Amino acid sequence: MNDAIYTCPMCGTPAVDHSALVGGAAQCRICTWTGVREELVAIPFTNYADSEQVVIAIRKDVRLAVRTASDQLVKLLVRWGFVSASNRNGQLIIEDKTAALRYINAIANGIFKSIVEEREKIEVERVRGS
Ligand SMILES: [Zn+2]
Repeated sequence: MNDAIYTCPMCGTPAVDHSALVGGAAQCRICTWTGVREELVAIPFTNYADSEQVVIAIRKDVRLAVRTASDQLVKLLVRWGFVSASNRNGQLIIEDKTAALRYINAIANGIFKSIVEEREKIEVERVRGS
């Protein structure tokens, strides 16, 4: 079990691929660095056992944020016809709750994916100095 997140020794990004084996091949996805796993810089984590748990924790936080905004998001989905609903005495009644929930989960996954992808773009720009 890891108690560290591994980063590139040349540019410092955590966007590295490495074998779990000692002496296993490692390479950076951002710059041109290649080497072995032991050359990666390990940043210890005190709160989480491994980077997978960090990802799980971030995902959970994103889901919580989306849930906080879910009333507004469902209204938007209804307004644009993605989720069926009826209006009873000014009260919005969601007819397809399963679809609404699927969209809310998809929105949370999309936000998480966007954050990770943007972070990687920012890293690339930082390293290439543009
Ligand atoms: Zn690198």
